[in-house]
Amino acid sequence: MKFLDFHHHKRGAAGIYNLDLNEETPSSRFSAGLHPKDISPSWKSDFEKIKKISLSENCLAIGECGIDGLIDIDEKLQNDIFQAHVSWAEEIRKPIIIHCVRRFSQILHYKNAKIPLIIHGFNKKETIAKELLDAGFFLSFGKAASDNLSLQKLIKDFPLQKMFLETDNADFDIAMLYEKVSAIKNISEEELSRQMWENLENVIYYG
Ligand SMILES: [Zn+2]
Repeated sequence: MKFLDFHHHKRGAAGIYNLDLNEETPSSRFSAGLHPKDISPSWKSDFEKIKKISLSENCLAIGECGIDGLIDIDEKLQNDIFQAHVSWAEEIRKPIIIHCVRRFSQILHYKNAKIPLIIHGFNKKETIAKELLDAGFFLSFGKAASDNLSLQKLIKDFPLQKMFLETDNADFDIAMLYEKVSAIKNISEEELSRQMWENLENVIYYG
């Protein structure tokens, strides 16, 4: 069974490969965006490049991009650049993969965007998850879900139709996460897998 790895950094995995800035466009499915940590004085030309790359048929989503409260980059600039990604994603009708660290209230301002919004690597509190869910966001869970008990409790009640699983940049087999989460949700790995692929279809061919 091929498990969907929604957001990953290793070429060849089944899912959406997160393209690095300055990397060649791959022949497999990928996403393109300016990670907040990669924001530099030349961000405008970087973003123009991302716009061009993202028109490729293999580019399934815009991102990861977002707002990070723990890095030393002006937050107004981070927000403006995230806004630019959202507008572009709406224009080319592709979902957006969001990196968010401690700035969920700002990200929630984008809840009315006309594209699916997916927060990747979610490992925060249930109250935040609930707020995001109510606002229509999808959440993608990574390695933390394998051992973080409060996150597992959250996942137990979280709607299957609004979630994804991912390795991100952690080095482990996504099959382990499917095993864990299917046990938490008391469903078979096959059913979990099928639903994750269906969710991918739903965010790509939305509306
Ligand atoms: Zn990542």
